[in-house]
Amino acid sequence: MKKWLIRNVENVEKFFPLTEEEKKAFKEVISVYPFLSTSYYLSLAAESPAIRKMLLPDLREIDESIQSKGEDDPLCEERDKRTLHLTHRYPDRVLIVTTNFCPVLCRFCMRKRNWKRPTFFIEDPEIEKAVDYIKKNEKIRDVLISGGDPLFLPVEKLKKLLFKLKEINHVEVVRIGTRAPVILPQRLFDEELLETLEKAEKVWINTHFNHPDEITEISKEAVRKLLKAGIPVNNQTILLKDVNDSVETLERLFRGLQKIKVRPYYLFHCDPVKGVMHFSTPISKGLEIVENLFKRISPLAIPYYAVDGPGGKGKVQMLPNRYRKEGNYYIFRNFRGEIFKMPDR
Ligand SMILES: *Cc1c(COP(=O)(O)O)cnc(C)c1O
Repeated sequence: MKKWLIRNVENVEKFFPLTEEEKKAFKEVISVYPFLSTSYYLSLAAESPAIRKMLLPDLREIDESIQSKGEDDPLCEERDKRTLHLTHRYPDRVLIVTTNFCPVLCRFCMRKRNWKRPTFFIEDPEIEKAVDYIKKNEKIRDVLISGGDPLFLPVEKLKKLLFKLKEINHVEVVRIGTRAPVILPQRLFDEELLETLEKAEKVWINTHFNHPDEITEISKEAVRKLLKAGIPVNNQTILLKDVNDSVETLERLFRGLQKIKVRPYYLFHCDPVKGVMHFSTPISKGLEIVENLFKRISPLAIPYYAVDGPGGKGKVQMLPNRYRKEGNYYIFRNFRGEIFKMPDR
């Protein structure tokens, strides 16, 4: 297997020493939830306690008293599939899960259920089926390509999918969800990949920075290459307990992203996924953080805080409650906490 992928504890210890607790977690957890990282991301972990928490196995992942309330697939992505890889929930957009391969297995992964399956990359006949489904449904204007990490599909496959989508007139946007700029920015230095994304024309990248320690010179360089190719870059963060659940950390993250021209799009409340429950915070914590962000920075650097409803109910975007109606008036609360009203005329 590839040299830049690190799978076992001996190789991790070449980057930094592990505590007894971390060694124990490696022993007991990886038969259930394996470990995988790029050497690049491990080198970041050596310097960052927050990144270590996102990357290293944790005994709480297999602690039933913590995980029993979680489910393998709380969002019912499997139930709502229309082809083997395509989920259609909202009227104008679909999700295609193209692979379960990622070069880093993030401990908070919402698709941890797919870790147990042998590695798959969408087969060509399944690309056809997904594309046919989209062709027949003219309301679909936005196609999300997710995984795993789609930028690690064999590039011929990615090309095939993207160029077929390019030909469908009613598809206006193709969003690729990838952590490559975070966990292996070097991937974006591949000319063939970059050219593919550029020539596919409709591509937007949704990347996934969770912590300011992940914004490095080289990740900035990767983003710059995407922007230069005319590809908008947005970011989805997950609110993770003891990793980024403070207004100071998220302010630094979102300002850092804006500085490298990545628009913070979503701050997701952590989904109730089995094996991930120890990262969960109260919803009120997220709302309080967002409330404080609005006091401090421009909305251009503030993502939507959102829950994804269990049972496939879909996403709900939340804002702090800053207005209400009273009779013929709206009562507002501004960034300083001052109250004012305006008539509804
Ligand atoms: C999140 C998601 C989308 C995209 O939702 P947006 O709010 O437009 O980002 C589409 N389909 C499914 C199944 C999803 O989970």
